Amino acid sequence: MTTATVVGSGPNGLAAAITLADAGVRVRVIEAADRPGGGLKSSELTLPGLLHDECAAFHPLVPWSPFVREARLAELGLRWSSAPVELAHPLGDGRGGALHRSVAGTATRLGEDGHRWERTFGHLVEDFDHVVEDILRPVLHLPAHPLGLARFGALAALPARAVTSALRSPSARALFAGVAAHALRPLGGPASASVGVALTTAAHAGGWPVIEGGSGALLDMLLRRAADLGVELETGRRVHDLDEVETDLVMLDTTPATAADIIGDALPAGTARAYRRFQHAPGVAKLDLAVERGIPWLQADARRAGTVHVGGDEREVAAALRDVTRGRLPARPFVLVGQQYLADPGRSRGDVHPVYAYCHVPSGYPGDPTDLILDRIEEAAPGTRERVLATRTRTTAEAQLANANLVGGDVIGGASTTRQLVGRPRWSLDPYATGAPGVFLCSASTPPGAGAHGMCGYLAARSAVDALATGTGQRSRGTQGRSTRRNRGR
Ligand SMILES: Cc1cc2nc3c(=O)[nH]c(=O)nc-3n(C[C@H](O)[C@H](O)[C@H](O)COP(=O)(O)OP(=O)(O)OC[C@H]3O[C@@H](n4cnc5c(N)ncnc54)[C@H](O)[C@@H]3O)c2cc1C
Repeated sequence: MTTATVVGSGPNGLAAAITLADAGVRVRVIEAADRPGGGLKSSELTLPGLLHDECAAFHPLVPWSPFVREARLAELGLRWSSAPVELAHPLGDGRGGALHRSVAGTATRLGEDGHRWERTFGHLVEDFDHVVEDILRPVLHLPAHPLGLARFGALAALPARAVTSALRSPSARALFAGVAAHALRPLGGPASASVGVALTTAAHAGGWPVIEGGSGALLDMLLRRAADLGVELETGRRVHDLDEVETDLVMLDTTPATAADIIGDALPAGTARAYRRFQHAPGVAKLDLAVERGIPWLQADARRAGTVHVGGDEREVAAALRDVTRGRLPARPFVLVGQQYLADPGRSRGDVHPVYAYCHVPSGYPGDPTDLILDRIEEAAPGTRERVLATRTRTTAEAQLANANLVGGDVIGGASTTRQLVGRPRWSLDPYATGAPGVFLCSASTPPGAGAHGMCGYLAARSAVDALATGTGQRSRGTQGRSTRRNRGR
């Protein structure tokens, strides 16, 4: 029987484990942390009875994931839920934009920009059910829906600023800029619209939902599915070296640099160079809050929204992105606030609610983000501080200590530069193959990138299974347990 070790138990590690086990491979997952799950955990971070998502919280793309569908997680109780408003972007004095589920509902409230919003996203939403299959894959692939993908690609390939400049009102421009900011790169670069276009279209097609019971509920289902398939799990053990595992396949749910360390001299020199050059995104610093009666936003839509982008107008969003990518703390940072309890009331205790917030900071920013975040929220919701009963912060260093993949606080598995959007983690027709026989990279540093969709792990596992079938994808018994170290740490 073919055997595999998966190093790391994030959603991609578990997706790889489930996909391989489903193909008849005997799988063992080894996780460095004491709890499995990587970025997919939920817990009581502030007060007893309040359920917070530790990392991933909102999942506009996950319901569309072929992996999630094939793993039949709905049978295990996976339920999606959206707040009455998917996303709001306050601008002050109660004004601002909001993303509602339907394009028409959003357009109606965008005034003069309504028809432009509808013209931009309407046809993409109609195609989304098909096109998403191509979006959740490497950019370089044979598309299943070439026409739809071409329409999507024509917009996604633009600088985000080209999309906002087709809109007139500050609310509509800020709304799109805020969604594009999830790529954590300046709004002027080629294809900097891609993440914004994908997320906006997904939100209109299926919402910007949370998981009932917290993102940790999805983790529990993945762990159950894996256990049903006989996958073994070991926690509290960090893998440093291929020598430590004696299986036919090794799947690495790690950063490219960690993969290069683990693989050592078995990694071809060109891949080793590419993995070590791989660029990480700016960081995120997080603040969880217990808030009595919720946040008193001036903007009515924000009071009913699952996600609130507190980033100011388009110019401010752009300036903050520019600063963090240049390693500077912005004077007015971009803050994301999560009010998951509005979609999933069971996460609150009476009138005390778990609120999730983070702000974009330079990579490795050492500071405590509490005041950065609360000062920003207070501008759009005066009186918030008086309602806060408890807080819990996580700096970029604490994040990386808990999960080595969060380099400098990077939550998206690597910078979304144009080069890394197309060729992630390196230019190759099989971005999952490391070039070392039987060893594959399966983390969010591979396509299609960040998120809890599991598609990186699923596609990496399929690549491994294909390689096995052609007799090219297995570690040779002679090399197992005998890797050398020359490539390490360079
Ligand atoms: C604060 C924050 C907010 C986020 N918000 C969202 C969101 O709202 N929506 C969304 O879709 N995504 C969000 N994300 C991103 C999402 O969590 C990640 O894209 C996703 O978890 C990536 O999955 P992964 O399996 O590739 O890696 P991870 O989830 O990072 O898991 C990697 C695992 O591998 C382990 N590991 C690493 N090296 C080793 C080693 N050498 N030996 C053993 N184990 C090792 C780590 O300990 C970790 O458990 C957020 C992330 C963070 C941190």
